[in-house]
Amino acid sequence: MKRYSAFAIAREALRHHSGWDRAWAAPAPKKRYDVIIVGAGGHGLATAYYLGKNHGITNVAVLEKGWLGGGNTGRNTTIIRSNYLQDSSSAIYEKARSLYETLSQDLNYNVMFSPRGVMMLAQTEHEKRGYLRTAHANALQGVETEFVGPDRVRQLCPIINIDGPRYPVLGALWQPRGGTARHDAVAWGYARACSAMGIDIIQQCEVTGVRSEGGKVTGVETSKGAIDCAKLGMVVAGHSGVLAEMAGFRLPIESVALQALVSEPIKPCMDVVVMANTVHGYMSQSDKGEMVIGGGADGYNNYTQRGSFHHIEETVRALVETFPMISRLKMLRQWGGIVDMTGDRSPILSRTPLDGCFINCGWGTGGFKAIPGSGWGFAELMATGASPLTAEFGLERFREGRFVDESVAAGVAH
Ligand SMILES: Cc1cc2nc3c(=O)[nH]c(=O)nc-3n(C[C@H](O)[C@H](O)[C@H](O)COP(=O)(O)OP(=O)(O)OC[C@H]3O[C@@H](n4cnc5c(N)ncnc54)[C@H](O)[C@@H]3O)c2cc1C
Repeated sequence: MKRYSAFAIAREALRHHSGWDRAWAAPAPKKRYDVIIVGAGGHGLATAYYLGKNHGITNVAVLEKGWLGGGNTGRNTTIIRSNYLQDSSSAIYEKARSLYETLSQDLNYNVMFSPRGVMMLAQTEHEKRGYLRTAHANALQGVETEFVGPDRVRQLCPIINIDGPRYPVLGALWQPRGGTARHDAVAWGYARACSAMGIDIIQQCEVTGVRSEGGKVTGVETSKGAIDCAKLGMVVAGHSGVLAEMAGFRLPIESVALQALVSEPIKPCMDVVVMANTVHGYMSQSDKGEMVIGGGADGYNNYTQRGSFHHIEETVRALVETFPMISRLKMLRQWGGIVDMTGDRSPILSRTPLDGCFINCGWGTGGFKAIPGSGWGFAELMATGASPLTAEFGLERFREGRFVDESVAAGVAH
């Protein structure tokens, strides 16, 4: 792989950009791999990358039924933060956030990490108490957050209506090194780095069945034929239940649509991310000037990548009362993704009842922020059989009642 650098850009400028390589190869599948990862979203690609980088396992294929990054990874609103309540959650989300800090250098690919700060508004006394508790927990966990009062909120984001017609802003949980990154670039950067290590990324290759013998996984059936493997990682977000069924087990997961929308571009007016969980909406401004808007997930299961109209109305209403100046903005685009929700709003990174088969799912509405940490931990789990980052996120917790309750931190969103 040729390195991207200022020198390379200057060199290519002089020869009419004729010397760039393809960012990643498009190989035909081999008959057998040590590890197959199903799903070339951020989590699948990051898992493959850290299998190669941290564990020297590169006889790996990542199988993707569509195009890489075309699932939720390419559809999310890119908020990155690690202000979760439980120790196990803040450990994996903070690992991810800290990896994001240097991901562009690590992958030699600009993922446009922008630690502009994330603010979660407290708009009821109950919410304020909850965020104060989280700020204290984060202090003990070594995660940098603080609870700030309304004056500081106004200073950080002057366009907020502090008095609010329904819920005045009582303060906010503020994470100064939270922010955003470019979602496609995260997928593309990992894909390019995987390909450079000799890992095969095979697009347009749908897994249609899981093969096993004597309770152990032996391979998969795909739209490009059967492929053998010693270990299988399922990393397919909203389709986790479908893949689990192929492997003969059930998951405590519900698949629901979550949607987002962007406005026409306007001049810079907001340089932080704001989440208003009580009224149910969140917003940031993209580098192009569009206001990037999201809200809650649909309340019923489905596999359409669209989402319902009433959620758009609810989200926009919430944001107009929080930021009255956006009331006359035109919305340009709306889209949806299928997210995988667990009951405790925490992910599953686990062995499964099928020996050699592992699953990484349940990131729900908030897994983009976790991609590097999840890939790091899941690769360690698959390579060595255990990882401190994933220890509390096993499937057995649902049977044993050891929930990692993050319903408040997951909140409206991400
Ligand atoms: C509208 C929206 C807004 C969001 N906002 C945020 C946010 O601001 N911050 C945040 O942290 N998170 C956010 N999320 C959540 C985040 O996008 C996801 O948690 C994360 O992207 C999941 O990544 P993934 O790699 O697990 O899944 P995906 O990116 O969905 O990748 C899974 C891949 O598996 C493939 N696949 C499925 N079935 C098969 C099969 N049978 N064979 C082969 N391939 C298969 C799919 O095609 C897909 O490409 C948001 C999600 C949505 C939908």
